[in-house]
Amino acid sequence: MSCSTVDVKAYVLGELAASEKAAVEGHVRACQNCSEELERLNLTQAALLSLEDEEVPQRIAFVSDKVFEPRWWQTMWRSGPAMGFASALMLAAAILVHAYSRPVVQPAAVATVGTAKIEQRIEREVTVRVDAAVAKAVGQAEARQTQQVAQILEAAEKKIESQRRSDMAVVQQAARYYEQQTARLMVAVNNDPRPGQ
Ligand SMILES: [Zn+2]
Repeated sequence: MSCSTVDVKAYVLGELAASEKAAVEGHVRACQNCSEELERLNLTQAALLSLEDEEVPQRIAFVSDKVFEPRWWQTMWRSGPAMGFASALMLAAAILVHAYSRPVVQPAAVATVGTAKIEQRIEREVTVRVDAAVAKAVGQAEARQTQQVAQILEAAEKKIESQRRSDMAVVQQAARYYEQQTARLMVAVNNDPRPGQ
């Protein structure tokens, strides 16, 4: 399986059959590019999901609602061979703007209040929430990384400690050996009659 045939985005969106899923997982384990791409998409999704926690029912439509057909955001999601983190975030913001503006723009009475003002407010709100969600997701990723580093260090320390112990054992064994050899030599020297006497 080559990178061009791996659909990491479809994988993150949970759209793959079990066999395709397994193939992507296998490839991602071996390919650093695709594994980084997956990490980026997971972060974006985490940001989106944490936004969904905040009781705005329109956002849940993001995955399931038929209103979004023909699922413009999926087309956009797939556009370009490898969408970067920033553009994924812009897409997230676009989805949120769409979700917000749908109920607001539709009723004519509300629209007369001042669409521009509402849009400004939405934009501010979205920026704040996306920033917060991204900061949270990045913070979690960093905490995870710090924990991993701590674990690796601890393992390394244990390894060094056990290496040190086995080195000490070798040195002590060698010291005992030379002690014995020296003692044996002394005995031999003392017992041997000197030649010529
Ligand atoms: Zn790859």
